[in-house]
Amino acid sequence: MQTPETVIFADTIHSLDGEKQYTAIGITAGVVTHLGSRSEAAEWSGPDTKVIDHGTATITPGLVDAHIHPIFGQSVARGVFLGDAKDLDDARRIFARHAESQPADAPVLGYGLNVAVFGEAEPHGGLLDEAAPGRASYVTCFDAHSALASQPMLAAAGITGAETFDDASSIVVDSEGRPTGFIREFSAMALVEEALPPLTIEGKVDGLERLLRGMAASGLTGGEMLDLADPDSLEILRRLEERTELPIKLRVAPWIMASDAPEQLRHLIELQGQHGRRWQVRGVKLMIDGTVDNGTAWLYEPDSEGESTESLYLEPQRYVDNLRTLAEAGITTTTHAIGDQGIGFVIKAISELPGNGVLHRIEHLEEMNDEDFTALKSSGATVSMQPTHCTHFVRADGSDAWSRRLGGHRASFAFRLRDVQDAGMVLALGSDWPIAPYDPRLILADAQTRRRTEVPGSDSAQPRHKLSAREALEGYTVNVHASTGAVGGRIVLGAPADLTVFAEDPLSLAPEQLCTVDVLGTYLDGQPVNAGDPLLTA
Ligand SMILES: [Zn+2]
Repeated sequence: MQTPETVIFADTIHSLDGEKQYTAIGITAGVVTHLGSRSEAAEWSGPDTKVIDHGTATITPGLVDAHIHPIFGQSVARGVFLGDAKDLDDARRIFARHAESQPADAPVLGYGLNVAVFGEAEPHGGLLDEAAPGRASYVTCFDAHSALASQPMLAAAGITGAETFDDASSIVVDSEGRPTGFIREFSAMALVEEALPPLTIEGKVDGLERLLRGMAASGLTGGEMLDLADPDSLEILRRLEERTELPIKLRVAPWIMASDAPEQLRHLIELQGQHGRRWQVRGVKLMIDGTVDNGTAWLYEPDSEGESTESLYLEPQRYVDNLRTLAEAGITTTTHAIGDQGIGFVIKAISELPGNGVLHRIEHLEEMNDEDFTALKSSGATVSMQPTHCTHFVRADGSDAWSRRLGGHRASFAFRLRDVQDAGMVLALGSDWPIAPYDPRLILADAQTRRRTEVPGSDSAQPRHKLSAREALEGYTVNVHASTGAVGGRIVLGAPADLTVFAEDPLSLAPEQLCTVDVLGTYLDGQPVNAGDPLLTA
């Protein structure tokens, strides 16, 4: 029998291959070649075998976040974080303090603002004009689908309020046609962002390295990057790989926007298969609608503000055409669908595709009625959901913007993780960073508690949608791979040795303890990832 190059021991090794458990893994050339007990490992090992003993630790298959924006997120998450602002005064105070710390001629930036701070009023840029008078200020909202701009910022970007877009993006104007400083959806945001000082490529490479090291330190071995919104994205990945190994593996699925011309779709098809050592382009992301909080989801009935009535596609049939073109090219897709009508439309489009074995996933599924759920089960689609979007942004008492806009009946169909799980569908989990924090321990915990686990006494919106610890872990491992037709996420012979090492067993810890359990390290293809790089603390 062949001798493994490396043997890793731990008292608990969850293979997720049925109930099989081990205490020793043998690895050769990055692949799992031996599985068994400590005593069996003594028989495989030779004089040159490197032995790493993690003692009482627990090893699981490497965790993979099914939905992140690690490069685009850096241009969203600029300046001061406003996501913890409790109300409008609080947001104004935080932003004013940040403005004072910035050079007088520099724009003042922020991100993560929850539009709920505006209560029932429509968000507006006046908040920034009051907090930093006379300054060019720009803040992205927490769902990254909208932004606020101060009047000097609008002037610097040449915004008049008369702009129109090839999708449902808009510069919101008042009754006299003047821009209010509320900017909806990506095409409109991009127009304003042109006036911001650009981030340099080297700066973005540094930022990406720091971010991915943080992700590795939290236990991630992989992530699915669902955009190429930053046109430098692939160049940034190449430059980082010239410098070092990526701390996590990335599957890149560029997005096609509602306003994109047909050439762009052909371009994304041509990009398929491009790769580095630890990243590859595989798949395409589409978006049928925006977000509920922003009034840009696609609902069957308008929300309480009379909004969220249409797709981002001015002609939704173009979405169907794009999806079909991709499916026929053998490309796995994933579609952002949040509002009930958007979800129903996407389910129908997927179920009418020719069955050629290519999988099509739906992201978010925030609010889904029973009829569409029945259609979903037989559609062949797989599912990707973000438990913390519910636990961070939806309140049990319905006082948040999401619940208020939808109203009680529709809000009761929120984030139906339990239903999707019970239907036997493939359910992948993730963060959608920078929309919510990426730490998988918090997300695995919230999936089990259906509340913000790290906040004592936080309430639980529809607790019946809790997952078990095992189901949540499968959502971060086996099911992420399975959701696009890939194989992975189990510790089995022949699999790449991508592993996460926890100080204690995530399947038996109480969720409250899971939030803070130590991650002792990760392995990619059998190589330990050095999360203790000085960059992490820089
Ligand atoms: Zn996203």
